[in-house]
Amino acid sequence: MVMMRQATLVAPREIRIDEAPKPEVDDDSVIIRIEGLGICGSNLHLWYGEGSAVPLAMFPMPGALGHEHAGVIEEVGKNITKVKPGDRVTIDPFENEACGACAYCNIGYFHHCSNPLNFGIGGFADFLKASENGLYILPDNIETRSAAVVEPAACSIAGIRRAGLPGGETVVVLGAGVLGLSAAGAAKALGAGKVILLAKHDSQAQLAERFGADVVVRSTEDDAMSQIMAATGGVGADMVVETVGGAAPTLDQAMDIVRPAATIVVLGLWDNLYPLDSWKAVLKDVTMHFSLTHGMKDKRTDYGLCLEWMSNGMVPAQDLCTHYRPLDDIQAAFELAADKTQGVVKVVLEP
Ligand SMILES: [Zn+2]
Ligand SMILES: [Zn+2]
Repeated sequence: MVMMRQATLVAPREIRIDEAPKPEVDDDSVIIRIEGLGICGSNLHLWYGEGSAVPLAMFPMPGALGHEHAGVIEEVGKNITKVKPGDRVTIDPFENEACGACAYCNIGYFHHCSNPLNFGIGGFADFLKASENGLYILPDNIETRSAAVVEPAACSIAGIRRAGLPGGETVVVLGAGVLGLSAAGAAKALGAGKVILLAKHDSQAQLAERFGADVVVRSTEDDAMSQIMAATGGVGADMVVETVGGAAPTLDQAMDIVRPAATIVVLGLWDNLYPLDSWKAVLKDVTMHFSLTHGMKDKRTDYGLCLEWMSNGMVPAQDLCTHYRPLDDIQAAFELAADKTQGVVKVVLEP
């Protein structure tokens, strides 16, 4: 039996490399040799082992966690027609699992598919066995390993597209990690008139302009919220995109910044249940738009759109991959990803 490396989370903040059988191709599957594997904020939530991220326990400990993959097709089964060996791809893990025919698949919510296939969501490993669905061939000017970032970037694109952004709006993005910066870029690419970005760290603020931010406000400043309000002309934002979660007060901030009869897009994940000022929400006629992940809207997938924008420079999400580390260094890579003082935006493992 051919073996490969696979990471296992054995206890909070303790992840180790095991040997596991390399998956074998069958008629309806492909084997992908992984070249880039992103460490996601949701991975960190599980790694910390804290709080109420209970729904995320769909990846039980010890588990494998990884879901931001890019790589090269190594083998294809005899029924595969969409890709061939040597193709460089990134994988929408939910579209890959989806039946493609049920009511949820039809409206592009692949992760709510009623009849999902049985491939699993992958993991931090050398190889991935997958269906041929949701595989996106990379444009020539996108490096394979950096395409791991499409997964989180597509989450931001999906949230904004589904909430609806016809154009010309003032958009405030709270948080300037991978989700926040790609949300800023997506808002601009979709026609926002002005994008105001709240950034904590220098490394994030330095990337802001490249991602379309017109105004950058630093969250470390005491009057950050009044700076944001001033940047909206005092009227509030047409859309606020919340991307921080954790233990941050960003939903309250969003509720203060949003103008009446406007929308808050919620992309963050919280450590604990979040008490919300429902009176303020009612009195302002706020629409809260929660969004878990990516999919398809108006027959266009968020992955496809993300790759197009990465390729033409509209949303250079590949620039968010600030640190690459070998798979064997996964423990240190998680510690690095958790330490935002070191200039990290996205850590990508290279099997
Ligand atoms: Zn992710
Ligand atoms: Zn389905």
